[in-house]
Amino acid sequence: MGKTIIISNRLPVQLQISNGTITAIPSVGGLATGMKSVHSSGDSLWIGWSGLTEEDIAPELEPKIDEALAAHGSSKVKLTEKEVDGFYYGFSNRTIWPLFHYFLEYSEFQLDYWNTYKKVNQKFADAILAKAEDGDTIWVHDYQLMLVPQMVRKERPNVSIGFFLHIPFPSFEIFRTLPWREELLEGVLGSDLIGFHTYDYERHFLSSVRRLLGLEVSFNDISMGDRLIKVDSFPMGIDYKKFSDAAKIHYNRAEDEQSELQQRLNTHKKTDPEAKFFLSIDRLDYSKGIAKRLNAFEYFLNKYPQYKEKVRLIILAVPSRSNVPQYQLLKREIDELVGRINGEFSTVSWTPIWYFYRSMPFENLIDLYTSSDIAWLTPLRDGMNLVAKEYIATRTDKTGVLILSEMAGSANEMNESLLVNPNNFEQTADALHEAINMPLEEQKARNAILQKRLARYNVEKWANDFMTSLKSQKERDAANV
Ligand code: UDP
Repeated sequence: MGKTIIISNRLPVQLQISNGTITAIPSVGGLATGMKSVHSSGDSLWIGWSGLTEEDIAPELEPKIDEALAAHGSSKVKLTEKEVDGFYYGFSNRTIWPLFHYFLEYSEFQLDYWNTYKKVNQKFADAILAKAEDGDTIWVHDYQLMLVPQMVRKERPNVSIGFFLHIPFPSFEIFRTLPWREELLEGVLGSDLIGFHTYDYERHFLSSVRRLLGLEVSFNDISMGDRLIKVDSFPMGIDYKKFSDAAKIHYNRAEDEQSELQQRLNTHKKTDPEAKFFLSIDRLDYSKGIAKRLNAFEYFLNKYPQYKEKVRLIILAVPSRSNVPQYQLLKREIDELVGRINGEFSTVSWTPIWYFYRSMPFENLIDLYTSSDIAWLTPLRDGMNLVAKEYIATRTDKTGVLILSEMAGSANEMNESLLVNPNNFEQTADALHEAINMPLEEQKARNAILQKRLARYNVEKWANDFMTSLKSQKERDAANV
């Protein structure tokens, strides 16, 4: 049996350099956790960018960096600052990201971004080719590396290649506007197995393949020359146990051992036990619909004035891609909206919105999840939305209401939440009203079903299902020839 190579834009470790000493700290993110069973079992390697550009790395430090990464089964791809600009901030985040999230007007079609994207994808492919041998299995992740499967396939036809897209795949009518649409599809089609979060993304992809490349698609198989490529959906889960265990520990903690944030939340709860906390957590990204949510909150307070001084919206907006102009504009818009709404509704004893623009440590995330009566997560478009799943996992007493956008991939698996169209303020305001008044028994019944499903389809199962499917696809394809 060959080895497994995982490849993603970023490595699952963070490098810290101080006084010539290098430390590699493993990431705790969902992908890194999910891949644990794949990455730690036997002979495996993770290839990606370290987060440091070539300009950041003094030549004498390079061997030490490589050694530190190797200790975590990782190997780096070297990128210059200019490459990161064109490939990551350029084509990935100013072309593909907005287009695939249906923000057509934000999508920039610049030839130099595209050329850098191709060049950098070739660098990633070369890094794989330097290590891969016949019989190996390669799992390529996400929209930054869509050309890599074909680049590897061309040189090493006898490896298994899987590709997973972590963001939505848009409808053909959107995708067709991309000048390099055929090249992108052909890049992905170097894979044996192509995975998406939902059946809809899969359907959109197959439709683009059929209409743009004229390939034969039968059910979820694509015939390309003598190869058979399988397309399937694998909804990504969370590390359910990590979140539910943390919540259990949290509930058992004595008050004086709780975080400062939790103690402050408690004070507010004690002052008015009937008051409700609404929670909104996202990266500060236009796809997340934070500004719309703020407008909907204002609409809600006007429609249901009886909840003034009775509800509080906690917004955690995590800084993201802040050197891309659209993100800077959005930050300004949100700052202004929060200021305006708070200015309009605040009283001496009540501020309707608490706004945090930062990322929070895990412990504080648990504080927020466990203290909030209602999680209000209404992206305009979202590949999956893991925050929704994490909120439910922490509700160990099964209370709490999730209001979720029907435009989030996770809505497909979370029918027991209150699903809303984020553009419909009337429906959203009514959902908030319903959530506030939902009987405890109903909350528990809904969450019991959700929890059972999320505990079963956790992130480890997601990774294992993908790998199992890739293995059987390769066997099927071999038998077909
Ligand atoms: N998260 C975090 N720190 C924070 C807020 C959120 O690490 O301060 C995590 C959160 O726990 C979740 C992830 O960020 O796992 C966000 O994932 P999601 O799928 O909801 O959205 P994405 O940012 O990937 O679009």
